[in-house]
Amino acid sequence: MTTLTKPSISFEFFPPKTIEGVNHLAEAAMHLMKFHPEFFSVTFGAGGSTRDGTIETVRMLQQKTSLNIAPHLACIGSQREEMLTILQEYKKMGISRIIALRGDLPSGMGQAGEFQYASDLVVLIRETMGNLFRIEVAAYPEFHPQAASAHDDVLNLKRKFEAGANGAITQYFFNSDAYYYYLDDCARLNINMPIIPGVMPISQFSKLARFSDMCGAEIPFWIRKRLQSYGDDIDSIQKFGIEVIYNLCQDLLKNGAPGLHFYTLNKAELSIQILNGLVPIAPALVSSVASHVF
Ligand code: FAD
Repeated sequence: MTTLTKPSISFEFFPPKTIEGVNHLAEAAMHLMKFHPEFFSVTFGAGGSTRDGTIETVRMLQQKTSLNIAPHLACIGSQREEMLTILQEYKKMGISRIIALRGDLPSGMGQAGEFQYASDLVVLIRETMGNLFRIEVAAYPEFHPQAASAHDDVLNLKRKFEAGANGAITQYFFNSDAYYYYLDDCARLNINMPIIPGVMPISQFSKLARFSDMCGAEIPFWIRKRLQSYGDDIDSIQKFGIEVIYNLCQDLLKNGAPGLHFYTLNKAELSIQILNGLVPIAPALVSSVASHVF
């Protein structure tokens, strides 16, 4: 595993649907700036469902924060021309980093379009834009639910790197062993690009359980049982959640994870509490601007 003295921190947002949501997001972003994030990223609804919202949110964050903003771009259900138009827009906006994904079409929504896999999008970006963008792709320590096998899924990550990706961000996981074994698999395939753990702060149980079942992220039985036992007691859920995720992040950083990418769900508080606890073991999180060697 590549060990870096300064782990990169990044935060993911989704495009808000209301003015109030935009204001909350801007406020959350300002609070998170104290951790000198390497970038903020903004999700994109497959099939273009959040196209304008994503672009507007990226623009808003660029204006408010002067930080690197990395739009996600999901290719499934879209045509090549649509992807190229968006990429041209990001070029004009001075974007330098893209998270390239396949995405999932909501059931009943259209055809796959011209793209089948994220690697097709990586190829398109490199063919048409050269090295203008740094490209991040998705990785799955607990394996993507549609993968033919665990080995095939790691081969898919390799395919995305061979197509020109520079790094990967993982689906969230609660068991660090899954990540370490995954890195071993990657090393056996000579993948030596940074694979940054995605971190999901725990804010409540039922939505997390539903989403985790859908995306194939395992909530260990003991965590599930404890969260269930708290019922509607959000304070206890969050207090326990902060402890669990803090311990996970501590373990990851101590074992040389190149960074942490927080799925914030547009809220700063939980990420802040987790990161505040981590500062003693990774002072670079606040003491200087994190620089990342790739
Ligand atoms: P791919 O890399 O294309 O993989 C999809 C599946 O196809 C895998 O099972 C893979 O093993 C298999 N596969 C790939 N290539 C081949 C091949 N040649 N032959 C056979 N099988 C193959 N979704 C959104 O809609 N918007 C977002 O903004 C978004 N952001 C995300 C950010 C991160 C960090 C992560 C981890 C996920 C994100 N997702 C997002 C979810 C993601 O789009 C879904 O998990 C989706 O199901 C797979 O996307 P992918 O890019 O990993 O796809």
